[in-house]
Amino acid sequence: MQNEKENELKTDIKSLFPEELKERLAAMGEPGFRAGQVYSWLWKDVTSFEEMKNIPKTLRERLDAEFYLTAPKVLRRQESALDGTVKFLWELGDGNAVESVVMRYNHGNTVCVSSQVGCRMGCAFCASTIGGRVRNLRPSEILDQVMFSELESGLKISNIVMMGIGEPLDNFDNVIRFLRLVNDQNGLNIGMRHISLSTCGLTEGIDKLAAHNLQLTLSVSLHAPDDETRSKIMPVNRAYGVDKLMDACRRYYDTTGRRISFEYAMIRGVNDTPEHAERLAKLIGGMGAHVNLIPLNEVEESPLKPSTPESLKAFIAALEKRGVNVTVRRKLGPDINASCGQLRRKREKEKSLQTE
Ligand code: SAH
Repeated sequence: MQNEKENELKTDIKSLFPEELKERLAAMGEPGFRAGQVYSWLWKDVTSFEEMKNIPKTLRERLDAEFYLTAPKVLRRQESALDGTVKFLWELGDGNAVESVVMRYNHGNTVCVSSQVGCRMGCAFCASTIGGRVRNLRPSEILDQVMFSELESGLKISNIVMMGIGEPLDNFDNVIRFLRLVNDQNGLNIGMRHISLSTCGLTEGIDKLAAHNLQLTLSVSLHAPDDETRSKIMPVNRAYGVDKLMDACRRYYDTTGRRISFEYAMIRGVNDTPEHAERLAKLIGGMGAHVNLIPLNEVEESPLKPSTPESLKAFIAALEKRGVNVTVRRKLGPDINASCGQLRRKREKEKSLQTE
C-alpha cells in the first residue's frame, strides 16, 4: 500500500502546477531554478526523489519529507494479438484499481484513461458503475496512466481520450488540473486538440467546461434521442432531460466553436429503430455535430444485447439520409475485452469471493 498513511501528511507533487511547486520550493529557501529541475523529473517516470540525480542529496531528502511521488503498479496487462491494443489494470497507492487502454490508430497511439475509481452515474449498459463510485482520482493518478502506459507499452502516446472508468465532469476540478498539466509544454505537452473528454451529460459541468474554453473535443454520451428511452438506460437523464442537455451542448458549441461528438451505443430493441435515428437527426441538427455509433459491448451482469447488423445498417442509412455525419466505432482488442471497467470488475468479484 505504498506508505499511504505516511503520504497523508505529505503533498502529492505531481498534482501541483509548476508555479505552485516554485512557491513551495521558494518557501523552503531554494533558488528559483531548482523548481524547474525538479518539475522536469516528474515527467521522466521516476518513482523516488532519490533518482533525481542533479538535485543535491540534502534537498532530495527534504523533498521526500514534504512530498510524495505516485507510481501505479501493473496488476494485469493484456495485449490483443489481433490489433496490438494493450490494456492495463493499475493498482493505486491505496490498493484501489483502475484501467487504461492503449489503442493504435493511423493518426497516432491513443490512451483511454479513467477519471474515478468506479462511477455513480448508473448507466444500465456499463460495467464501471456496477459497484458505484469509490473515490475521485487525483490529477497525478490520471497523469500517471498516460506516462506509465507509454513506459509499459513502449508506445509513444499522442492522443488521450477520457473515456475510461468514471464520469470526468463528476471530478471536475481534478480533471481540469490534469488537462492543464498534461498540456503543459514543460510536461507531457499533449495538445488540447489531441484530447477528447466524454460525459454522460452533466449540464452544469458542460457549462463550466465551456467557460474554460479549452480546444479539446467534447463527446456526449447521448445513447437515445428522447427522455423515455434515455431515462430507461441512463438515470442521469431523470435529473437533466434531453432538452436541457441539448441546450447545454448548444451553449458549449456557441462558446467554444468546437463541434460536439455524440456517442450512441446501439442496443438491440431499445434505441435502434429508424424512428430513433430520425429523432436523433432532428435533435442534433444545425450544430455540425458528429455521431459515433458504438456496437454495444456485452456486460455479464446486464441483459442488454448489441443491435443486429441489419438494424445498425438501417440506422446508419436513416441518419445519412438526413445529412448526419456518422461513423461506427471500430471494435479494438476484441480478444481481450478491451472496453473499460471489465478488468476492474473482474478483480472486484475475485476479491469478494476471497473474503466470503
Ligand atoms: N462517463 C463518461 C465516460 C466513460 S464511458 C461517459 O458517460 O461518457 C465512455 C463511453 O463508453 C460512453 O459513451 C459510455 O456510454 C460507453 N459505454 C459504456 N459501457 C458500454 C458498453 N457496454 N458498450 C458500449 N459502450 C459503452
